[in-house]
Parts: sequence; C-alpha cells; structure tokens
Amino acid sequence: MPRPAEPDATPSGAGFVHTFLPGRVVFGAGSLSRVAAEVEALGVRRALVVATNSARQTADAVEHQLGSRFAGRIDGVAQHVPTEVAEAARAKAREVGADTVVAIGGGSAIGLAKAIALTAEARIVAVPTTYAGSEMTPVWGETAGRSKTTGTDVRVLPRVVVYDPELTKDLPLKVTAASVANAIAHCVEAVWTPKADPITELSAVEGLRALSEGLREVLIEPANTDARGKLLYGACLAGSALATAGTGLHHKLCHLLGGTYNLPHAETHAAVLPQVTRVNASSVPPAKARLEAALGTTDLAQGLFDLFRSAKVPTSLRELGLTEAQVAEAAAKFKPTDNPVPVTEDLVRDILTSAWSGTRP
Ligand code: NAD
Repeated sequence: MPRPAEPDATPSGAGFVHTFLPGRVVFGAGSLSRVAAEVEALGVRRALVVATNSARQTADAVEHQLGSRFAGRIDGVAQHVPTEVAEAARAKAREVGADTVVAIGGGSAIGLAKAIALTAEARIVAVPTTYAGSEMTPVWGETAGRSKTTGTDVRVLPRVVVYDPELTKDLPLKVTAASVANAIAHCVEAVWTPKADPITELSAVEGLRALSEGLREVLIEPANTDARGKLLYGACLAGSALATAGTGLHHKLCHLLGGTYNLPHAETHAAVLPQVTRVNASSVPPAKARLEAALGTTDLAQGLFDLFRSAKVPTSLRELGLTEAQVAEAAAKFKPTDNPVPVTEDLVRDILTSAWSGTRP
C-alpha cells in the first residue's frame, strides 16, 4: 500500500525536555546465547532466574549458560505481581544472595523481577518473550487484593535487555495480537501525554510502523523470524516511548477497567485505543499525520480499529465481559487527567460507550 508522505519532524521553537534513560539492548535472532556474556560483563556474582511458565526450556538454557553464577530459579509468575508472590520472590532473592535477576518472559515475569529490584540491591537482565515493553521502562507495579500500586524508580530499569525473536515464534497469535495492541497503545499515547517530546515521538512513530508491519506479516506466517524481529523491535521502541512520555487518558482508562472489573490488560487496549484516538488525535495534527503515515492509513483511529479487527483482537469491551451499567459507573468514577481535550464525565462516557459496543470510530 503506498504510504502518505510523512511530515517533517523537526521541532518548532516551542522547546522540549527529554530524559535519556540508561540501558543496553542486545538484539537479534540467537542472542539468547549472549545472556551469560552480558551477565559477566556486568560483574554479576549471583544470578536468580525468574521465568514465566512458557519459558521453562529457555530458562534451562540460561541456567546452563550461567554456570557458577546461577544462584536459583523462580518458575511461574502471576499477572499483575500479587504482593504475596512478590514477597516470596524477595525472600528467595535474599536467601540465595542474588545480586542480579535474569527475567525471562512477558510483562508479568519482568514485573516480578522489578518487585525484587525495588527493595534489594539487585540489577535486572531482561529477556522479553512478549511485546508488552516493560523491559524498557523504570515503571513497577504491585497488586494487593484488587488494588494495584505503580511507581517509577530507575533501580527497576533493566540494565541489559536481550531481544531474541526466536523466543517469540511460538507465542500464540491471540496473545501476540493482544500484546502488540498493548505496545501500539504505548506508541500512540506517547504523542499526546503531558511529557510528550519530539525525541520520544521518533521512537513512537517508528515503533508503530514496525509493530503494524510485523503484525500483518505474522498473521500470514506466525513463525517468521524477521516478522517476529520487527515486532520485538517495535516493542523496544514502544517501551522506550512509554518510559519517557509516561501514560495519559488511554492508559488510565485501561487501568481503571482492569483494576475495577478485572478486564484482561492487553485486550482492553485494543477496545479503548481507537476511541481515545478518535477524540484526542486531532489535537496533535503533525504527530497524527506521522502516525498515520507509519500505519499506512489516512485516519489514525479507523486504521488502528481495522488493524486490531484484522488480527481478531476483541475491539469491544462487551466481548471482554463489561456490562453496560459498568460503563456509566466507570465514567462517573474516572478522575480527570491532563489531556489535550478536557476530560469530562460526558467525554469518558462517550469513549467507553463506543468502546463497549465496538463501534468503528
Ligand atoms: P504476561 O507476561 O502475563 O504473558 C501473557 C501470557 O503469555 C502468559 O500466559 C505467558 O506465560 C505467555 N507467554 C509469554 N511469552 C510466551 C512465549 N514466547 N510463548 C508462549 N507463551 C508465552 O503478559 P504481558 O502482556 O507480556 O504483560 C502484561 C503485564 O505487564 C501486565 O501486568 C501489565 O500491567 C505489565 N506491563 C508493565 C509495563 C511497565 O512498564 N511496567 C509495561 C507493559 C505491561
């Protein structure tokens, strides 16, 4: 499909602030074999491996590579880092004297490693196997009961991230598509948060290009390493954009829905993002045009909706189990946030009603 021309990204005289975060990225098919060398270069003595259920074999390989530096292993992680799981992991880290955590898995495994790093003198080496992007951010989260607390602390930012597309080849298409929707939400929202800046926007736009192209290719050939590589590259850029731009209206709505009504994190993004984009994108016209060029569309909100539909990610909150009464309840509960368009209860109800019915924006 011919792409619309991309407008010049040079910032005007408006000025901006951008914080570069420290961290090293090792990228490429087969790069899993470099974990031990990276760990050694960091001067690690005792590495605790934290692995998601689906990554047991990968964790075995890493354990073998680490040799005498291997200190212990935590298999199996839970979504949203429940406090009791975090406490047990912290106790294990203390018991084995870990100075580093090697986290293998998606946002849940990396989230657990962050919970350890937050309270112990331990660094993180992350090996992501989904596209959620947590490995590139200093954001941590922990859930007690139904309440999730999040915060930002540079101690939880992984020191090294090893991206190996081979590890994501078996990620089921359903999980892939939802995880890509999550990453795309980081890219799109990064252009309108209060901390948005032109350098972050470069990552966001290129991230959206890589993620949308990679998703279209993976839908045709799920085990294509190059396409999986595009998705991981996009996830890396999306995570970096989230790390510097932070979150805005879209993510705050998703967290309210996830926390209050237990909706699945990644899928909720696909239903809500096109609707928030419909109301917000025209407030940032140059960024909107650049994102449209990256996605290969002339209407960002519709382009996102169509991409998610083609990947069979649910695009309505109704499909995820939310009731119509809960839409009104959530709109009333939502606390106004800094946003290019003033956030009123009516606006939130409008967004959530369209997201609930899954109307094409
Ligand atoms: P996840 O880590 O829970 O993984 C989803 C499922 O996919 C799990 O069942 C997992 O076992 C499986 N899986 C993972 N990799 C696989 C692979 N390669 N092959 C087969 N199966 C695989 O989910 P997620 O979407 O990666 O992460 C979501 C969590 O991350 C949420 O709690 C979210 O809040 C958090 N998150 C945090 C940040 C941050 O910056 N702190 C950013 C994004 C997401």
